[in-house]
Amino acid sequence: MNITNWIAEFQKPLFIAGPCSAESEKQMLQIASTLPEQVKVFRAGIWKPRTKPNSFEGVGAIGLKWLKKVKEEYGFKITTEIATASHAKLALEHDVDILWIGARTTVNPFQVQEIADALRGTDKIVLVKNPVNPDLDLWIGALERLNGEGITKLGAIHRGFSTYKKDRYRNQPQWQIPLDFKNLFPQIPLICDPSHIAGDRNLIAEIAQKSFNFGFDGLMVETHHTPDEAWSDAAQQVTPDRLKSIINNLKIRTQDDLDMNYHFALESLRNKIDDKDKAVLEILSERMEIAKQIGGLKKKHNVTVYQPKRWNLLREFMLELANTYGLSEEFIRDFMTAVHQESIKVQNTIMTENGKI
Ligand code: PEP
Ligand code: MN
Repeated sequence: MNITNWIAEFQKPLFIAGPCSAESEKQMLQIASTLPEQVKVFRAGIWKPRTKPNSFEGVGAIGLKWLKKVKEEYGFKITTEIATASHAKLALEHDVDILWIGARTTVNPFQVQEIADALRGTDKIVLVKNPVNPDLDLWIGALERLNGEGITKLGAIHRGFSTYKKDRYRNQPQWQIPLDFKNLFPQIPLICDPSHIAGDRNLIAEIAQKSFNFGFDGLMVETHHTPDEAWSDAAQQVTPDRLKSIINNLKIRTQDDLDMNYHFALESLRNKIDDKDKAVLEILSERMEIAKQIGGLKKKHNVTVYQPKRWNLLREFMLELANTYGLSEEFIRDFMTAVHQESIKVQNTIMTENGKI
């Protein structure tokens, strides 16, 4: 993709804040007047994609005038969500500096293409939230559609992924997905939206810090002067004061440190890791050799490859060992499942060798 380095025009990291929804001109100006000085971009949703009908669906185009006022009076750049081609046109007409495509829109290639067509050739910044489902290609595809229409000031927002079962988070962070994104497109700024990941204002600081540990370029945080009274997403919004303390307590990490001692220490630890990884592969290879022998034995005795009882016992045993070795159960469960699946595959190959079953 042909990307312009738009983020270089901002102080690093980029902080975007403002209410989930624009509610009134007064509300917008009040929030804008008290945001911490590090915030350079003011956000407010005016067209709100809501899960259920009869919820507040945003104030609509009138909110664009309020956003403009925020820009004129407080000097913020302004941003809002666009979900259709007509939203895109209206936002351009009102000189909204940054447009973002929401998670529920990114999932729909037709809609993204219509928006891309409406924005063709614009030099506005366009941010694309991840789709609600954990699909990296769909996220990338949306950015490619915009880029295909000549939009080069692009950025990505990680807002977590929806699941049926809710746990600690409203939307699962699944960090590996944005990290894979960053690996593939290091030139596209990556911003974290801890508000929609968390769904709970008490988790914002922790998620924000994690994103900076991973090298994200900025944050978008929903901020409201009276969060509990907000017309949407009340539980996850923070006050401007709270945002100030979150920002001031953040440790901003750099991609690298030129200090030679750091590089020597890192190199030495990485060498050790490389040795250990090699040892893990050697052991795995030996393990699979044994699996082949087991496959041969089962074949000879006409016994099924998959033995649920044995697998349950092995898994339980390894989970107990995980605790002994200070490894997380989740990691060992995933690891052993992968090892076991491979073992089954290997045994199955032995069983069906030479086309004989
Ligand atoms: C929002 O930012 O208010 C919003 C609707 O976000 P998302 O698209 O991530 O749900
Ligand atoms: Mn919201």
